[in-house]
Amino acid sequence: MSSALAPIPLLSDVQVAPRSLEAFASVLDAAGVDRVQRGIEEARPVFAGRTVWNVNSTARGGGVAEMLGPLLGYAQGIGVSARWVVVRGNPEFFAITKRLHNRLHGSVGDGGPLGTHEREVYTSTLAPIARELADRVDRGDIVLLHDPQTAGMVPALSALGVPVVWRCHIGADRADDLVRSARHFLRPDVLAADRCVFSRPAYAWESIPRDRLAFVMPSIDPFSAKNTAMEPSVTEDVLGASGITDHVPAHPTTCTIGGRDVPVVRRVEGERAGPLPAGARFVLQVSRWDRLKDPVGVIDVFAEHIARQVPDVHLVYAGPSVAGVTDDPEGAAVYEQACARRAELPEELRRRVHLLLVPMDDPDENAVVINALQRTAAIVLQKSLAEGFGLTVTEAMWKARPVVASAVGGIVDQIDHDRCGLLVDDPSDLGAFGEAIVTLLQDPARAATLGAAARERVRHHFLSDRSLIDYLHVLTPLAAAAPLDGP
Ligand code: UDP
Repeated sequence: MSSALAPIPLLSDVQVAPRSLEAFASVLDAAGVDRVQRGIEEARPVFAGRTVWNVNSTARGGGVAEMLGPLLGYAQGIGVSARWVVVRGNPEFFAITKRLHNRLHGSVGDGGPLGTHEREVYTSTLAPIARELADRVDRGDIVLLHDPQTAGMVPALSALGVPVVWRCHIGADRADDLVRSARHFLRPDVLAADRCVFSRPAYAWESIPRDRLAFVMPSIDPFSAKNTAMEPSVTEDVLGASGITDHVPAHPTTCTIGGRDVPVVRRVEGERAGPLPAGARFVLQVSRWDRLKDPVGVIDVFAEHIARQVPDVHLVYAGPSVAGVTDDPEGAAVYEQACARRAELPEELRRRVHLLLVPMDDPDENAVVINALQRTAAIVLQKSLAEGFGLTVTEAMWKARPVVASAVGGIVDQIDHDRCGLLVDDPSDLGAFGEAIVTLLQDPARAATLGAAARERVRHHFLSDRSLIDYLHVLTPLAAAAPLDGP
């Protein structure tokens, strides 16, 4: 058959390069190194000859994509064949999965229905994708399906007789009617999984039998473009080269990440009066353009409770360019809302509010820019109304930044209030955010103490080595019980 007539695949492969865990010896203590060694030794023989298939809906943008790359790379580095495939869907499908995503967080989202029609679109989109995946899965393999976008494939893949794990990265602290409606929609699929993995016990669904539950807290890769150490002079050049500040680098700016040269050449876009003056202090929130990240609330906190008290400080809200995240249909509308709120501010405040769209064309270049922003920020804010885990918080803590964040979701697992950051109990309390931020801006010694404690907390609990070993613990008994094809 001519290639012009060949069907377009519904799954695309994301290439992941193997990574060595050796570098972790430079960031872990002896107990940490030992734990990793033992985990690898137990897992290696069990996973020989098997592939662990990971399926999600985007290769870039958002926390899940951010975590999968390094985790699968490290898995490959220890000899586990770990693959990553991304599902294709149409806008109607992604509108429904976004609705599910929002409701699992306890947020109404677009307020649309989750009825028979939506279920029909959901299952009929996923059925051919599951068939395509089934053709590639061998006996003895393991399938790890991530989030609501892929849960509907659990029954079809389980029918192959391979272990199927559903990994849900989102959840709500309390299950209200909205949460229950999304769970109800997904329940027939999810109950067919051999294990359901949540980020924290509070997110586990009551209807899932206890012996099928497992928990893995998310993590960050300390050696990725997003988190790798950077000299202050490089940070300054990255911010200048991307047009975030008015600093002019003396040479073209290139960062070397894992042996690859990453030139910083693309300029940020967005809504601002002009670049930040080099060296200016700024409060930073890095987030997708999503209502649950509350960009309008972030602008209001700054305008009403920070800008006048601390006249030299700026606000930077950095998000991906709005066309860049394919499974996020609301992004452009939320960005427009933030621009509209900024436009309402008096000129003196408006010029200090920078809404940045960071290009996503090269994920490493994007990550280097975010890294430089996080390292340079005076304070990192995460004013989420709900949060599965909040990797942006982990990233800032690893960079020893003082973080002020809502006490929601996984953020409370990360920040010990007043020891390694500040939590605000009510995410809608603008005054409380303002007060916490102003206090730290006026007390740099306290801010530095919180930042140093934050880095230690991440070192011990939230680096990729720990998640990798946790996943292996969940998957090892399933793999051991799944017969491989005989010789
Ligand atoms: N992120 C990014 N570029 C951006 C905005 C966000 O790389 O312009 C990254 C951010 O650094 C973090 C992830 O996207 O690694 C967001 O994960 P988080 O858990 O904070 O939230 P989610 O987007 O998954 O709800």
